[in-house]
Amino acid sequence: MSDILIVHTPASGIGVVTRAYARLLIAGFALLPAGAIAYLAGVQAPSLTFENHAFHEVAIAAATAEGAFVTYVTWRCYRSSGEPLLRWLTLGFLGFVLIYTLHGAFTGLAHHHMWLFLLYGPASRLAMAVLLLVGLLSFGRQPDEAGTRTNIRLWGTWIAAFVLIDAFVAAVASTTIASVGLIRSLESAALLFSALNVTALMVRRIRSPLMVTFGISVTWFALSSLAFLLGRPWNHMWWLAHLIFAGGFFLLSYAVVQAFHTTRSFATVYSQEVMIARLAAASIRTERALEELQRTNQKLEHLAATDPLTGAVNRRYFIVRVEEEIARAKRDGTPFSLLALDLDNFKAINDSYGHQAGDVVLQSFVQKCVEVIGPYEGVARMGGEEFMILLPQTRLDVASTIAGLIRATIAGRQFEAAPGEQIALTVSIGVAQFGPDGDSIDMIFRTADQRLYCAKGEGRNRVVAA
Ligand code: GH3
Ligand code: MG
Ligand code: MG
Repeated sequence: MSDILIVHTPASGIGVVTRAYARLLIAGFALLPAGAIAYLAGVQAPSLTFENHAFHEVAIAAATAEGAFVTYVTWRCYRSSGEPLLRWLTLGFLGFVLIYTLHGAFTGLAHHHMWLFLLYGPASRLAMAVLLLVGLLSFGRQPDEAGTRTNIRLWGTWIAAFVLIDAFVAAVASTTIASVGLIRSLESAALLFSALNVTALMVRRIRSPLMVTFGISVTWFALSSLAFLLGRPWNHMWWLAHLIFAGGFFLLSYAVVQAFHTTRSFATVYSQEVMIARLAAASIRTERALEELQRTNQKLEHLAATDPLTGAVNRRYFIVRVEEEIARAKRDGTPFSLLALDLDNFKAINDSYGHQAGDVVLQSFVQKCVEVIGPYEGVARMGGEEFMILLPQTRLDVASTIAGLIRATIAGRQFEAAPGEQIALTVSIGVAQFGPDGDSIDMIFRTADQRLYCAKGEGRNRVVAA
């Protein structure tokens, strides 16, 4: 197993503590704005304000541009994965942008038409909080159909709904319903929906990294609503509220970008811990498959080199072996010899006992040769009942002796052609040494064959070596 993939499974004690510590850090980070709110609530004089319209307009213009961009990237993720959460997230961002922009646009009316200026802020945050909550509740559902993802009518309807909300807010702003109380109600509702969102996330124990980021963002949205409730237009708490909201927005858009660069879904981006464990498992599987493949390859190589009936090597493989031996002989001057063998009157065995009996005799013959010469690779079936044997590092005289031993062994044994049918078998052998009897594969084969035919001509069951 490769050592780059060592997975540290923490020993129970420290493992539990570090896991709890990591959760505590996440919770601490999510609640960080609460510290800033508490600090400002403690030290600020609520009457201190920073009323700078140009700054407010530029900030909101930047937020609108960023929001539009994030909406687009979220929609691209949704189009790829079809994850319902991403549909609601796209709508949340889109709704926020379309409503919040007017809060910026009406900055100049902050004094003449205060409600028109103020109402769009909490309205946009409430719309987004509701849509994000619906999104969270859809987490884990089946992906939407491809047609739904790009359905212009569906998206057009939503855009129309947001424009209607804009018009509705404008209408309300001109009535007596518009009041501090209404603004506080909207902001409280936004806070409530964000808090519900965090609660739902914790109750459902959703732990995927992007959803953890989602949870932190939504906590920041809730705390931003809290700061808006504690602040007054243009005072420092009011500005802090904007800042906290922007922080949550940045974080959530960071999660979207992470999704975009990976699986384009919020559910299937896994933690590093999970990824490393999966990688380790995959690596083990790959290595096992590789070992299996190597075993299969060895089997295939063996099959490709072997005669299926007798288990002797086949002609093709034998030629490769002899060529290797020739190369060695030419390089080092090492001698080697070849035996050409042909069973005598084999046709008669087939005729008398049947082809199947002949097969059994062929198998037994090869076994006997192997018993005499040793290494299995030396015996090759060149075709029918013709064989060859390679004798590396062997001169003609020794090769003749070995050939004699084979001949005597075959002639001295009985072969069982069929149950209870013992038959005698003989073999004729031609012997040739590389070099003196030919210095190419063709020539040495031809010499060995010629000597084999001599042996046949001289009456069979004999060895000819000259
Ligand atoms: P000789 O001593 O001159 O070599 O006589 P022979 O009968 O052995 O020679 P011949 O070449 O006439 O016949 C070879 C026989 O070997 C013919 C063929 O049916 C048989 N044979 C070839 N391959 C196989 C095989 O795979 N199985 C069986 N059972 N017989 C085979
Ligand atoms: Mg024969
Ligand atoms: Mg033959």
